[in-house]
Amino acid sequence: VEDYVSFTQHLNASTRIAALLGAGLSAASGIPTFRGAGALWRGIPPKELSSPYAFRDNPVLVWQYHNFRRHIALHALPNTAHYALAHLGEYKDFMAITQNIDGLSQRAGHQTAHLQPIHGTLFDIKCSNPECNYLERENIVDPIIPEMADYGGVDLSDPNVSLPSVTIEQLPHCPKCNSLLRPAVVWFSEVLPGEVLNQVDDWMLSGNVDLMLVIGTHASVWPAADYVEFAREQGARIAHINTEDPSDDQKTEGRDWFFKGDAAVIVPELLKGVIGAPYCI
Ligand code: NAD
Repeated sequence: VEDYVSFTQHLNASTRIAALLGAGLSAASGIPTFRGAGALWRGIPPKELSSPYAFRDNPVLVWQYHNFRRHIALHALPNTAHYALAHLGEYKDFMAITQNIDGLSQRAGHQTAHLQPIHGTLFDIKCSNPECNYLERENIVDPIIPEMADYGGVDLSDPNVSLPSVTIEQLPHCPKCNSLLRPAVVWFSEVLPGEVLNQVDDWMLSGNVDLMLVIGTHASVWPAADYVEFAREQGARIAHINTEDPSDDQKTEGRDWFFKGDAAVIVPELLKGVIGAPYCI
């Protein structure tokens, strides 16, 4: 139900609040979601460009794709929902678990203590050699492949636009062991970063969650779905904010509120009782 009054009463009474964030949060910033329009890159599904197998078979193409995503994210701006959430931690014991890798919550000033990027970020780069521990944080060089520089103004997601030719040698290499570097994001079939998951678990276990916000995500994949279920078992009430109402009963089970629409409009409106109204549209 879309009941702002009962939601606001519960929000005000809540001490501990968790939020699960997905690609829909950044849609208003112009970053395509995986299911919506613009999900395909040059006609290729993102799954085929975001796996260790794809990287092994064609590291140049996988890097060109990530170079593109970094470029889009760096030129996007955080939206009103990123800002509203970034401020919630000043008023409540708050934990945001984000599946997004675009760095927009971080750029909105979301304190790292209240934000766990469980899928990593496009701006952390690590060595692809599992024996090597090289990690570079907050690398915002754009383009990260110098040969891609002239293509800044062209839409490289369009298969009709030719990709600049890049050799393996021109990809970023590890300064420690000279293996290929790669984005430190969680690709399909990979395990999530243990340290980040532990921090989420520590917070979830250190007291009952009163309210869980599920924003712009299907919340259907592990561990996202489990966090919602766990909070619900602790007695949390659950609010979903999404442009689409999932027809699948499993995802709507135990849901207390559903607010249909753009997260950038709805999230600041929902939180204004706590953070004030500077981000309301
Ligand atoms: P998804 O693309 O599978 O789903 C996006 C969800 O957002 C859908 O439920 C859709 O209905 C909803 N949505 C779309 N526009 C919205 C808006 N304006 N306001 C509110 N909701 C909106 O994304 P997901 O569930 O986050 O999971 C897929 C994976 O894709 C994640 O692991 C994530 O790492 C990755 N991803 C990240 C980004 C990013 O960093 N911005 C972008 C695309 C995909």
